[in-house]
Amino acid sequence: MSHIIEKYANEIEFIDLKVVDIHGRLRHVMLPGDRLTESLFTEGVGFDASNFGFAAVESSDMIMIPDPETAFIDPFYTEKTLSFFCDVYRVDSLEPFPQYPRNLLRTTVEKLKEVHASDAMMAPELEFHIFEGLSYEVSANRVYYEVDVSEGFWRSSEFSNQNVVGRKMGYHRTPPADIFANFRNEVVKILLKIGVPVKYHHHEVSSAQHEIELLFQNALKAADSILLTKYVIRNTASRYGLVVTFMPKPIYEEAGNGMHVHQFLVDENGKNLFSGNDYGGLSTFAFQYIAGVLEHSLTGSLLAFTNPSANSFKRLVPGFEAPVCAAFARANRSAAVRIPGYVKNPDKVRIEFRTMDATCNPYYALSAILLAGIDGIKKKLDPKEMGFGPLEKNVYLMSYKEKESIKFFPTNLNATLNGLKKDNEYLKGIFDEKLIANWYTLKQEEARYVNSVPSPAEYQLYFDL
Ligand code: GLU
Ligand code: MG
Ligand code: MG
Repeated sequence: MSHIIEKYANEIEFIDLKVVDIHGRLRHVMLPGDRLTESLFTEGVGFDASNFGFAAVESSDMIMIPDPETAFIDPFYTEKTLSFFCDVYRVDSLEPFPQYPRNLLRTTVEKLKEVHASDAMMAPELEFHIFEGLSYEVSANRVYYEVDVSEGFWRSSEFSNQNVVGRKMGYHRTPPADIFANFRNEVVKILLKIGVPVKYHHHEVSSAQHEIELLFQNALKAADSILLTKYVIRNTASRYGLVVTFMPKPIYEEAGNGMHVHQFLVDENGKNLFSGNDYGGLSTFAFQYIAGVLEHSLTGSLLAFTNPSANSFKRLVPGFEAPVCAAFARANRSAAVRIPGYVKNPDKVRIEFRTMDATCNPYYALSAILLAGIDGIKKKLDPKEMGFGPLEKNVYLMSYKEKESIKFFPTNLNATLNGLKKDNEYLKGIFDEKLIANWYTLKQEEARYVNSVPSPAEYQLYFDL
């Protein structure tokens, strides 16, 4: 890290240390710039990890140590500030704290060796809605107190710039309808400057819905980039008095926000291990990986990490290009795993896991996906034999009879948590028991809370019954 100290020591006024909490939120502490010395990278800064939601360990005192690989100048402070993502260590032993998301994903990547891979290349797609000048409190008030059943206000039309782009009419719209194209340009310029590689951006299907796709990076960088992208989008929006949400389903009857992740495994020479001669240009190895991912999604266990919100399951419903079943296919957007047909270069062959949404902790979610894939490879599972596809027909349009053969996902958070309870062998050795139990309790409490709040739809159906 001496090159970092040399490069920035006389230039910066502050250091910003960013840490990830259990839900995948960034938290931070700021230090005066003169603390940029060797000891910052060996002694770190102490904090109480239990405040970040992690399960109590013998001592919740931990230290955060900046990862020099993640240094960037954070453009959202007035003074010149050097920012780092941190790793978290136990105070006593200086061992990495295994529940800490970045540590956990690193250990998962190590485990890829067991299937003769050395890393995973991942390219996430971030979908989000931009609303104008509303605070979260205001929208929450409207949801719970201003119930107007005649208008079905919970479509939140007044929050969504519908005067510009009509419902479900936004896909790749141009200006003037695409009123936030310049906003997205601004976000992308900042991302490029701080080292997040961007593929492209565009308006998405729903009114007020946007998308920024990133290029491939290794698993740890991809997870860091997901959080950085959310951070940059939110902070840029806040400069304009705008509010952004990545909530999976913010608006009733509109497309939801997914976070699809394109992925393939590579060997130590960077060779794409998913490239082969089977369906869609994939290898048998890739199909085994797909089988593992689909099998553990179907039990609910994997979804408990990739779609860990009560709201996640309002997105995973038929009719909105969000997956509803454990299946793979080339073109079909109702399937959880898509094999993009436009990829002609064998080095770039990948699968797209479409289930995930951005309310996940990306480090846990990417780890769980990889562990499910590793399990499929080790067991040499065949997704065709398991009835996962290829599913070339849109499930949304199938008859009742045709649907009998389809393996539908659990439809709520509690069901996935029960799946996690029963099916967690594949996570063992990486997700320790304390972490799984803690996740289960935290998420079950969220589900209980959401389920116990009367919703506008219940007023519509039951108020006068
Ligand atoms: N918004 C859709 C989802 O919820 C995805 C649309 C697309 O294919 O990009 O996953
Ligand atoms: Mg999209
Ligand atoms: Mg996609």
